[in-house]
Amino acid sequence: MTLTITAQTISITSIEQLNELSGENVKLCMQCATCTGMCPMTAEMDLSPRTVMHLVQFGMLDRLGASNTCWKCASCHACTVKCPRGIDIAKVMEALRQHVLRTNKNYIEPSALPAERIAELPQIAIVAAFRKLTS
Ligand code: SF4
Ligand code: SF4
Repeated sequence: MTLTITAQTISITSIEQLNELSGENVKLCMQCATCTGMCPMTAEMDLSPRTVMHLVQFGMLDRLGASNTCWKCASCHACTVKCPRGIDIAKVMEALRQHVLRTNKNYIEPSALPAERIAELPQIAIVAAFRKLTS
């Protein structure tokens, strides 16, 4: 993936917003990619956890909001326990979900699910898909 970084694409406000939402300091990331190596869900993600952290460091929330990565994150914390910089990446993923939900967008739209699919799925799975750990 090619990234074009200019003074216009960097949003200090967004970086601070993500830090506040997650309680983490995303600037500490040194792009070692240990998180990607540990993640069991990377095959399903369009951006790896390392790439997400890279975009977060530039405050590129619009690009991240269009990615499926934070929704595919299983909140397993495998990345978190191995990050050499002590960053809780699962919390950053949760903050990204919160950011999207605050724009009143759902990754899965309830009205788009067929009734027969809703009937066969466990209710808790449906709720988790809408909100995951995000409150
Ligand atoms: S493991 Fe930590 S330091 Fe390494 S790329 Fe991931 S978030 Fe950054
Ligand atoms: S918490 Fe999410 S990003 Fe981290 S290893 Fe688990 S699934 Fe991957």
